[in-house]
Amino acid sequence: MNYYSTNKQSPAVGTQEAVVKGLAGDKGLYMPERIPVLPPSFFGKISEMNFWEISCEVASAFFGEDVEPSVLKEIVYDTLSFDTPLVKVTEAVYSLELFHGPTLAFKDVGARFMARLLGYFVNQQGLEHVNVLVATSGDTGSAVANGFLGVKGIHVYVLYPKGKVSAIQECQFTTLGRNITALEIDGTFDDCQALVKTAFMDKDLNEKMRLTSANSINVARFLPQAFYYFNAYVQLRRLGVGENIVVCVPSGNFGNITAGLIAKKMGLPVKRFIAANNRNDIFLQYLLTGLYNPKPSVQTLANAMDVGDPSNFARILDLYGHSHQTITEIVSGFACSDEMIRETVETCYREMGYLLDPHGACGYRALKNSMQAGETGVFLETAHPAKFKDTIESIIGQTVEIPPKLQEFMKGKKQSIELSKDFSEFREWLIVSG
Ligand SMILES: *Cc1c(COP(=O)(O)O)cnc(C)c1O
Repeated sequence: MNYYSTNKQSPAVGTQEAVVKGLAGDKGLYMPERIPVLPPSFFGKISEMNFWEISCEVASAFFGEDVEPSVLKEIVYDTLSFDTPLVKVTEAVYSLELFHGPTLAFKDVGARFMARLLGYFVNQQGLEHVNVLVATSGDTGSAVANGFLGVKGIHVYVLYPKGKVSAIQECQFTTLGRNITALEIDGTFDDCQALVKTAFMDKDLNEKMRLTSANSINVARFLPQAFYYFNAYVQLRRLGVGENIVVCVPSGNFGNITAGLIAKKMGLPVKRFIAANNRNDIFLQYLLTGLYNPKPSVQTLANAMDVGDPSNFARILDLYGHSHQTITEIVSGFACSDEMIRETVETCYREMGYLLDPHGACGYRALKNSMQAGETGVFLETAHPAKFKDTIESIIGQTVEIPPKLQEFMKGKKQSIELSKDFSEFREWLIVSG
């Protein structure tokens, strides 16, 4: 499979290069040159297939030409060491729980798949050692670090702002050891991101260190997210409600929903999508006006969606030939204020006994707001509520239990290297220690 850049200025590249490079030279996002439509025979037997088997078919549609079938199967099975169950919340509304992975958020799926695929390519090219740099404001670092943990030939450096991530988040990438090193930067998230960007532009450092990024725009992180949309469909079908499906996706950078739109192009029978935003409603404004006006992000309770210039917007435009009309026919939008998030978490817990996290709450609210008679709604529950323990406890007035997986991290010993935000110090440290 070849991948072209959404900016159309850089040449198309093969899968390996798209995965190793992440971003195209013209700063565009890579898109698969064709979106394979899965045959009727696949949909005919999908009800008898398990999550692994379904995901293997989806994965091989994209990566089958470039990865040996037995290896690809192993990567898929290894990635999906957990399920994505569908849970009924109210009449005709279901939660697709994507938080059963090691770091309790949906990003585990993409990060684990990408780590394994990159490991395979590195191995195949006979490269000795590749270094992944990732800047995090909290959640990405944990998913990437845990995804790459123990993957041969790859070392991960997680840069995070000292004192600016929660204790629960910090322990998920500072206690791992092995091929994961946490760098505690005396600065903000933007400083961490600037260090990573400067490092990638430093040719000499790149050659010495074989740097690569594990950014969420990487095709190997974004495409595997299509797996669980198929898994949601098959679970609905088994329940006898596999028609008129509406899928609502709490969205920040819009990678997750774009994977769903790709699943639809592959033939998945979803009638329409809803993009749930928090107060950062740039996409909703685009739907309403046809104008895309990026803005600085504002802080909200659903902080993983505090994005003012969603990078995957370029992919959505590309998917539908830049047609505002087509996009609005398939996707609708909604914006959820912090007050609405609180009210939704509280009401859903009190009335239905289902505990939402702040991101899932945006999804649930947006879905309830737009559902029509005869539709079956699914919202993606993108993280476990315990990841936002303080917020959720203040809303429901009860203690939220921390799942054993998260408790395990908290028992580990924190190991980190403290560095300033000065690039030359960071560079020197990398060369000496890496
Ligand atoms: C990253 C994240 C999102 C947003 O996903 P995008 O793919 O960036 O739209 C939503 N919820 C949670 C919990 C996240 O971590």
